[in-house]
Amino acid sequence: MSTLQFDKIALIGIGLIGSSIARAVKLKGLAREVAISSRSRETLARAEELGLGTLYCEEARDCVRDADLVIVSVPVGASGAVAEEIAASLKPGAILTDVGSTKASVISQMLPHVPEGVHFIPGHPIAGTEHSGPDAGFADLFEGRWCILTPVEGSQAEPIARLRHFWETLGSKVEEMDPAHHDKVLAIVSHLPHIIAYNIVGTAADLETVTESEVIKYSASGFRDFTRLASSDPTMWRDVCLHNKDAILEMLARFSEDLAYLQRAIRWGEGDKLFDLFTRTRAVRRSIIEAGQDTAAPDFGRHIKSTP
Ligand code: NAP
Repeated sequence: MSTLQFDKIALIGIGLIGSSIARAVKLKGLAREVAISSRSRETLARAEELGLGTLYCEEARDCVRDADLVIVSVPVGASGAVAEEIAASLKPGAILTDVGSTKASVISQMLPHVPEGVHFIPGHPIAGTEHSGPDAGFADLFEGRWCILTPVEGSQAEPIARLRHFWETLGSKVEEMDPAHHDKVLAIVSHLPHIIAYNIVGTAADLETVTESEVIKYSASGFRDFTRLASSDPTMWRDVCLHNKDAILEMLARFSEDLAYLQRAIRWGEGDKLFDLFTRTRAVRRSIIEAGQDTAAPDFGRHIKSTP
């Protein structure tokens, strides 16, 4: 049993990530009060039906009043507007963090609004699924996953340590990183794979020589695994592309070069080159399993667990 860490936690945005945090906080008893706000009344009402918090606010500014920890879990493109809205209501000494998938852009949007005396410590839990909304969350989403904190200039050690401890209690392993470096790393491990998946699924859907029923019928041959990524939330991924533009374009350029190399090897029948690459990539998969970041199960261990 964990102990109380904050008197009041405010969750702005209660989709997959916000509601997973809410469930974990409740399960572990980490706050006396959990105030929730969401852009729409429908989502807020659903959060209340699910019993995710103790207080439900239509306005984000009401939600953050007296909160010791404020977690913004909205699409990255909306983080500046949210910061502007809540700024004047933040309690001096409060920790303000976010979970956005891009960091430099979130910092440039939010930081100008952060009042003196509020500890702004951006964050990003490297955990998620292709589902969204308050029903999609689950308490052990962060169990065994990394959470990256990207403190800004002037961030103090004590609030960073408190936030680190919070994520560790949720089951995460925590690392601190420079925001620009985070954006580069995530461009290759997360953003590029999603863009490639969106592209492949789009190409297959456009192919006129193959019917839609054939694409679905024979999908287990590889296509299916891309469709999981390509079914991720369109708003979230539009924002990620627009807000990590430079790093993504750099990785896409590298990817295109490597694809051209593969194309040549196939054209000229250079089997050795193909075999060498496919052997190297197989080893990458093995090291991911060894690092505990996935399982060798046929469903890739992604069946959602049934914790409350
Ligand atoms: P989600 O399930 O779609 O939930 C989004 C939440 O943000 C909802 O409460 C939604 O409110 C609210 N929202 C949407 N647009 C908004 C806007 N323009 N202004 C204010 N609020 C808005 O999203 P999520 O998957 O939890 O993602 C939230 C954040 O976590 C994103 O920044 C994403 O990059 C990051 N993240 C996601 C994953 C993942 O795998 N999904 C992993 C790590 C980090 P309504 O429903 O009321 O409209």
